[in-house]
This record gives sequence, C-alpha cells and structure tokens, in this order.
Amino acid sequence: RRNERNIKNMLRSRLAADIFRLLEQAGALGREMGVSVYAVGGFVRDILLDRPNLDIDLVVEGDGIEFAQVLSRKLGGRIRMHKKFQTAVVILPDGQKVDVATARLEYYQYPTALPTVELSSIKMDLYRRDFSINALAVRLSPDQFGNLVDFFSAQKDIKERNIRVLHSLSFVEDPTRILRAIRFEQRFNFRMDRQTERLIKNALNLNLFQKLSGGRLFHELYLIMEEKEVLACFRRMDSFNLLQVLHPLLKLSDQLESILSEVERVLNWYRLLYLEPNVLSWKVFMLGLASSLDDAQFQILMRRLNFSDKDERYFLAVREGLAETIQQLHQWQGRAGSLSELFFILDPLPLESILYLMARSQKEEMRRHISLFLTQLKTQKVSVTGKDLKAMRLSPGPVYSEVLRTLHAAMIDGKAVDRNSQLILAGELVARIKAREAADQVQEVSP
Ligand code: ATP
Repeated sequence: RRNERNIKNMLRSRLAADIFRLLEQAGALGREMGVSVYAVGGFVRDILLDRPNLDIDLVVEGDGIEFAQVLSRKLGGRIRMHKKFQTAVVILPDGQKVDVATARLEYYQYPTALPTVELSSIKMDLYRRDFSINALAVRLSPDQFGNLVDFFSAQKDIKERNIRVLHSLSFVEDPTRILRAIRFEQRFNFRMDRQTERLIKNALNLNLFQKLSGGRLFHELYLIMEEKEVLACFRRMDSFNLLQVLHPLLKLSDQLESILSEVERVLNWYRLLYLEPNVLSWKVFMLGLASSLDDAQFQILMRRLNFSDKDERYFLAVREGLAETIQQLHQWQGRAGSLSELFFILDPLPLESILYLMARSQKEEMRRHISLFLTQLKTQKVSVTGKDLKAMRLSPGPVYSEVLRTLHAAMIDGKAVDRNSQLILAGELVARIKAREAADQVQEVSP
C-alpha cells in the first residue's frame, strides 16, 4: 500500500466539486460503518484520461446494500436495490446516480486455479472485469483517500494506450468483451495488445459468438452504434469477420463502407446543429448496415439481435416508406413544388429515416432540400397555439394538429407569416371545421 500513487489532487481538479465531496462523504461513511469503499471502473479510468464520466461506480468490501441504504438516507436520495446481485443504485436529489456493488469473495469461482486465499475482495472484484484499464480502484476511506489501487498494471496500459484482458479465458467467459475491446480501441484511440488480439481470434474460432444471446449481442452493438467512430468499429469488426457472425451476408464491401461513411457524415452534421440532438444514431446505422440485405434477410438479422416485434415492424415500415418518399421527392422536384409540399412529404417520417434518406441521396440537390426541411421548414414555429384554437371553441381532437399543420404550411409558403394573418387563417379553418361537424351531426340525426 505504501507504493500506491495518490491522486487526490487530480480528483479535486478534474471532478466537479459536488462529486468530489460525494466521494469524501462515501469514504467517511465507510469508515463509520467499518467497511472499505472504493470508486472503480470506467469512472477511475476516465479521471486518469481526463475525460468526463457521469457514472459513479462504488464497490464496498462488506455489505454494499446496507451501505447504499445509509448513504441514500444521509444524502436524501432514493434507492433501487437488486438484492440478488447485492447491488444498489442511489439516486441523489440532483439526479446524480451512484452504483454500489458488493465485493464478496465467494462469488468468484474461476476455472483458472487462483490462490484465492491471497486475494482481497476488491482484487477479486477487479479481476473479473473486462480490461486492465477498467480494473482500477481508488480508495475513499479518509486515511487513504485518493490512493490508486492498481493490481494489473492499468496505469502502464493507459500510458501505452493498450487494451488488455486480465486473463486468457476472458473472452471465453464473456464474448461480448470482444465488441467492448473494439469499442474502447476506437473511442480512446488505444490498441489491443497482441495477446488480447490472439485471444479474440481463438474465441471466434471456437464459435463462441454464436452462443451469445441476441439481447446481449445487440446491447454491445447498440453501444458501438452510439459512439463517435462507428465506421472504424465496423471496419475492425469486419477484420475479425464479425459482421458475418451477425448475418452471413454482411461484409464490409466498398459499397457498404461508403454508405456507412455517409451515414456517419450526416449524423455528425446533424449533431453539430443541435446542442442536444434527439436522434437515435443506432437506428440510422442499423438501416445502413442492412442496406445490402433484402427484407427477409434483414428480418433474420433482427431476430438474431432479438429485436422486439415493434422494432422489427418499425424498421420494415421505414424501409418501405423510403422507396415511396424517394419517388415523391423526385416528382416534387420535377414539378418544382412548393416548400409546404416538401414539408408534407418529409414531416410524417421519423427523423432517423430522414437522415438515412439524406445519407443515401446521390444528388447534392436532394440533400440540400432535406437539409432545408430539417434546419428551416421543420423548426419554424407557428405563433398560433392550441390555446388560441381553444379560444375559438374548436372541440378537442386530432383536428388541432391538422389546423396547426395547415398553418405551418401556409407560413412556410409565405402566406401567413405573422401572428395576425395566422389568426385570421386559423379562424377560417376553424369555421370550416365547425360547419363540417354541424353537417355531420345533421346527417346523424336524420333518419
Ligand atoms: P462507458 O464509458 O462506455 O460507460 P464503462 O467502462 O463505464 O464505459 P460500463 O458498461 O458502464 O462501462 O461498465 C462499468 C464497468 O463494469 C466497466 O468499467 C468494467 O470494469 C465493468 N464491465 C462492464 N461490462 C463488462 C463485461 N462484459 N465484462 C467484464 N467487466 C465489465
């Protein structure tokens, strides 16, 4: 313990003041309760890398559930417990989440013959993690606060930019780590060491991926598709023939590569536009990945990844809708249609579908129109609201959005640009709807 490096000053300078304080409080509480508390995992890794990380992971040598309960009570938070796994999540009043796990020796029965007696529970807890860079811990107890616990040369690996597993059965134990290794490589611009790469190849030769459940496989794929360097991850996956494991016909051909690179470009463009982009990147990449598959093949891929029926229907509907939309857009261009017509063509589509369409458009002009829709037509706000319509005694129902959309279209076409003219137009539309409703009622009562 003497030669443990202390990173208290680094914690203080790199963490928000309230997070630093929270760690101190957790450590102090641990001492009161007679248990050792550590911050662990990606949280510690990202402090050393000086990257933001909002997930706090604590490990308690002792009863983690009890510790979490007291911590939650002290800080006025809420708690969710998973007794079976001896873990808990504490949700603080400001929304900050703290994961608390229990380090217990009995948990870990390894096929490799480990001299378990020599291992502390924190060491066992860290040993079952995926890579050395994720297997660091920081002591939080007041007398050793900030001491870095590094059993597996993680600091060296961080310095040398290595992704390295902790033992040779790591991928056999959990093949999802293969995708995690690829994801971390690209995210941090690290590199697997030769041994780790060899172990991946071995695991793949044993067909371990085939046995993986669709849910777990998809979860890791999803995490990849929400990263910044998605195409680079797919390239790396392809180099291990991992795309074929998802579906036998998936291969990173030049064509697929260029489609995915356009998807990435469009998503980057879109993310730059907004502070909090609301786009589900994975869906756009999924459409790109499946571009070379027909519907039946795509369905097999989706079943392999354990998609819900709802998601399956969503993706098939999007693909069907795309063909139709492309045709409508061509016709619209051909007849030099109005902006509101463009609006009505694109507005019903999910954002992911529109972005995919943009990525797949060969013609610059088409992209410009889609961009115009996303950046201007869609974002302009009509100043008449539902409240105004209510004041006009329009009875509640889907007609509200119908009227508002018509107003939106008129505004886009420059026909009702200010509030006054929009109110007048709204009045006309409401009157027409009321007349229609009255006529319907007459029809209903007459024999
Ligand atoms: P991210 O920044 O992507 O959230 P993270 O390292 O925090 O990365 P999590 O998935 O939140 O990753 O996992 C938290 C910690 O749990 C990791 O740092 C790692 O130590 C451990 N872990 C996660 N998944 C695995 C796995 N499949 N096998 C072993 N350990 C894992």
